[in-house]
Order: sequence, then structure tokens, then C-alpha cells
Amino acid sequence: MSHNLIVLAVDDDMINLKLLKSMLSKLDNIDEVVEAKNGADAINILKERDDIDMILLDIIMPVMGGLEMLQVVRADENLKQLPIIVLTTDETKKTEALEKGANGFLMKPVRAADVAQKIQELAL
Ligand SMILES: [Mg+2]
Repeated sequence: MSHNLIVLAVDDDMINLKLLKSMLSKLDNIDEVVEAKNGADAINILKERDDIDMILLDIIMPVMGGLEMLQVVRADENLKQLPIIVLTTDETKKTEALEKGANGFLMKPVRAADVAQKIQELAL
């Protein structure tokens, strides 16, 4: 990708979401951080705008959790190519997240350097 990235950050914990946004906003290759509070909210945003480049996704959320959202995205012709990085405190979910189509997995609390590196890898 030659242009800077627009990242969709999905987390039901508003403090996590703000921290993630502030972390991402400091990265040179990110133009915008769009926030969603659960998987259903995120899917609605993805249907409204076609300029999202990447998704950072929490697993445990009300309404629609991250693993369910992964399945919805991967089953959608228009969305299935989107890179998705799963962020969670639960390492036992790693295999399932990767099987359901996650491109990356990071343990919370995430470090800025790790997020930056993972985004860089997937943006190439
Ligand atoms: Mg959560």
C-alpha cells in the first residue's frame, strides 16, 4: 500500500479504545483511526465506507464478539481480503482466531512497538 492507512479499531472497552487510538495516531503511516464498540458496529462502518485498510479487533465484546466478526468479514466478498489483527488478553483464543482468518494476534496490553511492527508487516 502506497498511501497511508486508515485503521478500524474495535473494542468494547472505551479506555482500551482511546489508548489504542492514541498509540496508533502517533504512527507515521496511519492517517485515521476509526472507532467501533463491537463487531456489529464495525460491520456497519465497513458497509458505509470502503476506505478502511486494516482492522484491530478485540475478542470479548457484547452484541457481536471478535471471533464472530472475523467469520462475517471472511464470508463477505467485499470485505474478506481486509487484514485483521486480533488483540486479546486470552492467549488460548489464538489458534481459533487464526483458524477463523485473523492475519495477526497480539496479547493485551499491547506495546506500541509491537502494534507498529504488525501493522507494517500486513501493510506491505
Ligand atoms: Mg472486550
